[in-house]
Formats: sequence, C-alpha cells, structure tokens
Amino acid sequence: DIIISVKDLHKRYGQFEAVKGISFDVYRGEVFGLLGPNGAGKSTTLEIIETLRDKTGGKVVVDGFDLDKDPGSIKKIIGVQLQASGYYPGLNLSELIELFAGLYNKKVDPLELLGRVNLVDKRKAKFKELSGGQKQRFSIATTLINDPKIIFLDEPTTGLDPQARRNLWQLITSIRDKGTTIILTTHYMDEAEVLCDRVAIIDSGKIIEMASPDGLIDKL
Ligand code: ADP
Ligand code: ADP
Repeated sequence: DIIISVKDLHKRYGQFEAVKGISFDVYRGEVFGLLGPNGAGKSTTLEIIETLRDKTGGKVVVDGFDLDKDPGSIKKIIGVQLQASGYYPGLNLSELIELFAGLYNKKVDPLELLGRVNLVDKRKAKFKELSGGQKQRFSIATTLINDPKIIFLDEPTTGLDPQARRNLWQLITSIRDKGTTIILTTHYMDEAEVLCDRVAIIDSGKIIEMASPDGLIDKL
C-alpha cells in the first residue's frame, strides 16, 4: 500500500538544478530514510512533499491526493517538526503544546502528548532548559499534534550522545509501530540500519541507490 508516490521530481533554483528527476514510493507504516551528503537535495524533496516549496516538474501523490490539485489535504495529513527558534521563551512545554494545537485548530491533552515522548516530568520546564535529547523528543511531540498519518523528521539525532540517540530510536520505532508512516533524513549509516525499513541514497539531486538498510555500509 503506497502512501507517498514521487515521480520524476525536478526542482530548479534559478539556473541551478537541485533535484534532477527523483522517483520513489513510500509504503504505509514504514520508516523510509533519505540519506546523502549535505546539498544532495534531501530537504528540497521533503519540503516539496510537505507543500512548503513549489516543484519545477514531476508528480507527487500523498494518500491519494495530487499535490497539484489538493495541497491543502496533503498539508493536513503530514506532521512536521516545528522549529525550536520559533518557540516563545516564556512558555513551558505544556503551554507550548496548547499554543501549537491552537495553530492547528486542534484540541490536545498536553500531558498525554508529553507522555508519548516521555517528558511528563518536564511539563513545567522551558524549552531552553531541556537537554539535547529532550529537545528532540519535544520536537517529535510537536509533529504529532495534528494527529498525522505521516511524520517528517529532519536529522532527528544530530548532535546527541549515544544514549540519547538510542532513546530517540526507541521513540521513533514506537511511533511507527502505532501505524504512523515516517520519513527521515539522516547522515548516520548506523541510524539508517537500526531505524529504516528502506532507504534511498541521494547525491547531487539523483537517487543513486534504493535498498533495505542491511549491508548499507558495504555498498558505500
Ligand atoms: P540537503 O537537504 O540534502 O542538504 P538541500 O535540498 O538543502 O540539500 O539543497 C540542495 C541544493 O540546493 C544545495 O546545493 C543547496 O545549496 C541548494 N539550495 C537549497 N535551497 C536553495 C534556495 N532557496 N536557493 C538556492 N539554492 C538552494
Ligand atoms: P540527553 O542525553 O540529551 O540528556 P535524554 O534523551 O537521554 O537526553 O534524556 C535525559 C534523561 O532522561 C536521561 O537521564 C535519560 O536516562 C532519561 N531518559 C530518557 N529517555 C528515557 C526513557 N525512555 N526511560 C527512562 N529514562 C529516560
């Protein structure tokens, strides 16, 4: 069952072609990894699917909705990480969740949501007081506010120590096990091996390899 279908996607910034005909499918309920060096075109590809950027060419269908015809419906079923820099410094985690839920016109129970990312005891803390791993877990909680079918995680464990990364891996896997489809970008091979059901390796705007993550390291 395909939930995201991308066909011959192209993106040009001025004269520069950042995405040169990328095609892939994402299956419902899987963790799909986009791997590749900086500048490969990962964020551009994800931002187009999220409806945050226009494409130059190609076709994108998400859960039956064509991006060209119904971007609004696509936006509603994708949860994206909200940027920490945008957070109101005076609010605690509980209050931030309520604020974000209001932006989505959703009613959520902050404690329930914080419970899903193991941060209930931090509900009164400010975002800046959190450790790196806690910040990432909170950021994952923000993706879940609109009860999405798909979540996008951009480099979810960058800069974390090994224990915090393992905590994040556990959390991401548990979200997948509840039926949410996850697309993530990473530049860690071990992370892709642990987390992803399938990966696409992107370089210079093209997919150079599509694989199950086992033995990925041998291929590179
Ligand atoms: P990745 O996420 O894999 O690091 P990006 O999608 O961010 O790659 O970038 C792909 C290429 O497009 C890079 O060469 C980057 O410099 C370029 N690029 C990204 N955004 C813009 C933009 N707004 N204007 C011009 N070039 C851009
Ligand atoms: P960091 O490493 O950035 O400080 P963590 O995500 O590891 O952040 O969490 C901070 C603290 O919370 C650590 O002491 C960790 O052991 C604890 N912790 C994190 N996740 C769990 C969990 N799933 N169960 C129990 N304790 C946890």
